[in-house]
Order: sequence, then structure tokens, then C-alpha cells
Amino acid sequence: MSDNTVGSFAESDPVKLPDLSTVFAKRAERLRALAPGHELEGFLRMIAEVIAAQHEALADLPPGRLPASSSRAPLDPATLERDETWRAALARILERLDEATLPEAARLARAKLSAAPVAELEAMADRFLEGDVRAAEAAEMVFVAAALQVAWTRMAALLDVSGLDAAANSGKGGQCPACGSPPVAGMVLPGGTKFGHRHLHCSLCATAWRYVRTRCVHCGSTDKISFRQLAGTAYLKAECCEACGGYSKVFYVESVRALEPLADDLASLGLDVLVGEEGFSRVANPFVLGVMSGTDGNN
Ligand SMILES: [Zn+2]
Ligand SMILES: [Zn+2]
Repeated sequence: MSDNTVGSFAESDPVKLPDLSTVFAKRAERLRALAPGHELEGFLRMIAEVIAAQHEALADLPPGRLPASSSRAPLDPATLERDETWRAALARILERLDEATLPEAARLARAKLSAAPVAELEAMADRFLEGDVRAAEAAEMVFVAAALQVAWTRMAALLDVSGLDAAANSGKGGQCPACGSPPVAGMVLPGGTKFGHRHLHCSLCATAWRYVRTRCVHCGSTDKISFRQLAGTAYLKAECCEACGGYSKVFYVESVRALEPLADDLASLGLDVLVGEEGFSRVANPFVLGVMSGTDGNN
């Protein structure tokens, strides 16, 4: 795996683990580039700051521990015994954020989390990882999500890639081979075959894995797949599945070079609204989980 193109990865890699030196830094940079003039500019700028804090938090975390090797999704939050690393990451992220850049709700959330007992933090982490986020705690969950991403991304970076099977779950759906989480988006890179391969990118641990094009990431169906897009965004489509009612986003890297899956997903929530109105659904981006799919006061 040493001959990868810098800043990208070889088309032939079935699984690509995150590079800790760049994963959050590139994401923050991309979000800062997407923010100016965007209808969600303030939100995107705030998340860019949170992601920059994720990058810094990686530098001085306690050692932590990796699970014993396992054939499938060794970092699955449902089976992994979570250690204190994510709480150390949370404390560092909260410390590093500049109060002045935070909106009121985020300042309150930060104060609340800084004072919260361990048991309450752990319960919030459980709810996030189970996708059971309440709309009322959406602001706190931005920071909880950020901290869990730091912990999981670091563990993923230390895995042995040869032990991960990109196809392990492909009969059923498109979950991360490292942690079993849903993808935040798919990227189609040029090269390889005439049409290029698709890689899905994990919403939690930033691992990427190859996945058949035009195949539902939720149920694995290849029938009744159709695409939607917003005017003026040829590089982005929603792949919608009539079989299960799910959809996922696909970015086409040949037309926009600087794409970053999580950042570009956040900056294209308009497409989620469009396909949501048609009745399609997916697991929302971790930073808007409480807003897009909160379990009270919303839906
Ligand atoms: Zn993952
Ligand atoms: Zn489906």
C-alpha cells in the first residue's frame, strides 16, 4: 500500500484506512472552502472549527487499546468495549474551541458537557452510536459525535488492513468493514475501469471501502435504483432505492477535485431535503443527526 498517490488512494485498494496526519485537517480545510456564501455558512464554519479541534485532539490522547483481531467489523461499537479515549478527546475538543466562534446553543452545549458526569457522557455516546439522538440534545451531540470520531478514527488507523474484508457485508448492505457504521457518502474516482469504482466512506471511523456502483448501500438491491440531483451540481447525485426506500449520496471526483466526503455531504443538505420529500431516507451525517432525525420534536 506504499505506492498510493499522495492525498488519494489507489483504485485497486478494497479498503483504505484513514491517515491520521491528514484526515481531519483536510476535512476542516474543505469545509472552510465550502462555507463562504453558503446558506448554512455559520453552521459550516462552526463545524470546521470543531473538525480542526478534532485534528488537534489526536496529538495528545492516552494510549487506548485495540480489540483483539476479528474477522468482521472489529471496531463495531455494539461489540467493542469502549475505553476512556473518546472522553479524553471530548475534553480536548471542548478546551480548544474558541468561545467567540461558537453560536449560543453551542456555547451552552459546551458548558453542559464540560460539567457532565461520566455516566451521563457515556449514556449520550450510547445514544449517538445507536442512532437514537433526541432533537433537544442536537447541539451537545455535535461534540459527542466529534469525540467519538476521533477515538474511532484513531483505532481504525491502527488496524491491519489485510484483515478487513470490503465485501464482508456487501450481500446485505454497505456497512464499514472496520466498524460496521453506515457510510457518510460514496466517491467515484476516475481510473481503473471505464466508469471508475465507488468507495464508500465511513461516518464514524473514516475508513473507505470499495462498493459496487449502482447498488443500494442499505439493502444491497441492484433493481429499481434511480438517481436525483440538484440543478448545477453534476458532481453529486442521490442514489435512490425503490426496494427499501433508502438513498445515499455519490460524489464524482472527476469533476470537482477537492471533494471530502463528510464536508461535502454537510454542504449539500439541500439534496437530502429534496429526496426526503420524495420519501427516501438514510442515516444522517453525524453532525446533524439530532436535527435531521431527532426522536422528539422533529418528525
Ligand atoms: Zn467505520
Ligand atoms: Zn435498498
